[in-house]
Amino acid sequence: MRRVAVLGSTGSIGEQTLDVVSRFPDRYRVVALAAGANVEALAVQVERHRPALVSLATDEAAAVLRARLGTDAPEIAVGEAGLRAVATADADVVMSALVGALGLEPTLAAVEAGRDVALANKEVMVMAGALVRRAVAAHGGALVPVDSEHSAIFQCLSGQRLEDVARLVLTASGGPFRTWDAERIARASVQEALNHPNWDMGPKITIDSATLMNKGLEVIEARWLFDVPPARVDVVVHPQSIVHSLVEFLDGSVLAQLGLPDMRVPIAVALAHPERVPLEVERLDLTAVGRLDFEEPDRGRFPCLQLAFDALAAGETAPAVLNAANEESVAAFLAGRIPFPAVAATNADVLSSHVGEGSGPIRDLRDVLAADTWARARAREVLPKHEGRSA
Ligand code: MG
Repeated sequence: MRRVAVLGSTGSIGEQTLDVVSRFPDRYRVVALAAGANVEALAVQVERHRPALVSLATDEAAAVLRARLGTDAPEIAVGEAGLRAVATADADVVMSALVGALGLEPTLAAVEAGRDVALANKEVMVMAGALVRRAVAAHGGALVPVDSEHSAIFQCLSGQRLEDVARLVLTASGGPFRTWDAERIARASVQEALNHPNWDMGPKITIDSATLMNKGLEVIEARWLFDVPPARVDVVVHPQSIVHSLVEFLDGSVLAQLGLPDMRVPIAVALAHPERVPLEVERLDLTAVGRLDFEEPDRGRFPCLQLAFDALAAGETAPAVLNAANEESVAAFLAGRIPFPAVAATNADVLSSHVGEGSGPIRDLRDVLAADTWARARAREVLPKHEGRSA
């Protein structure tokens, strides 16, 4: 029996994790859940999975949950301390599925407590990849990616030697604006940007898929997860999202992992690692798919992808700065404050002023958090100049 804790249990990955877990009651038991403000969704999860510990963002939310569950309520923790409590609960595997920078500290806490971590929160590696790698090596738990591309690479690398790898190739769906010209993209509405062709995901990552920032963040994530030099990570656009990523080896052989786009598969892979479970999902029928297309990503129409490569080349705190700027600009776009191209423009402004001021070294978590704070403040200065501006 594997005891499972979930950070971000009411989000898209959290809900799908609990769906996978509930299919294998002899194999998994939920011991701790952390949510934000969605009290009703957490209450339903508590009734179903009976964890000993849950966490919510605020005292107010905790009071509502306590009233809702009455004497059936588990221990309820709150805020950052609550996230840390769930991250270090008595579990075998922690699903790290918070969105954005919020997940960094609790995920590191889980690693430092020696837990196996199933990592869906890519920002953790983007912000502090070197620190997380060091902590994993020091504390002995496994770090298994959940992001579909990284799960694919992880599976392709199984039994292989890292020194034999020539290139990691991440596939990108291209998002909803893949075939749009720059002028039309400039006028894209929030609703159009949220309309992802293949994947059903949370709003932040869906916008990141429309700008291709998601792929950029995944390039940085891959560099740190698999410890390969940035020059050995490539991106290819693959609109069908059937090939989830590929690994090219020194001898020219290429391994790919395929499947229909369903996040429950990489979730199941991560939770069961190194075993596999008989998951009932729709099977890939290649004759029904018929054809698989591939094309070069367009860094002109999608400047966020180039920004990620720039941040990776600048190194140290630059990726954390880009990530924080992007969280602020995406929030402003989702709130209807700025037009779609202003997401990339804001990110570029913040990244260039940071690189201009010198990208600081990362000695510990404080350096990462300071860079994050600096970038958010800078983004808030930059954002008003893009507000309401029709592109
Ligand atoms: Mg992905």
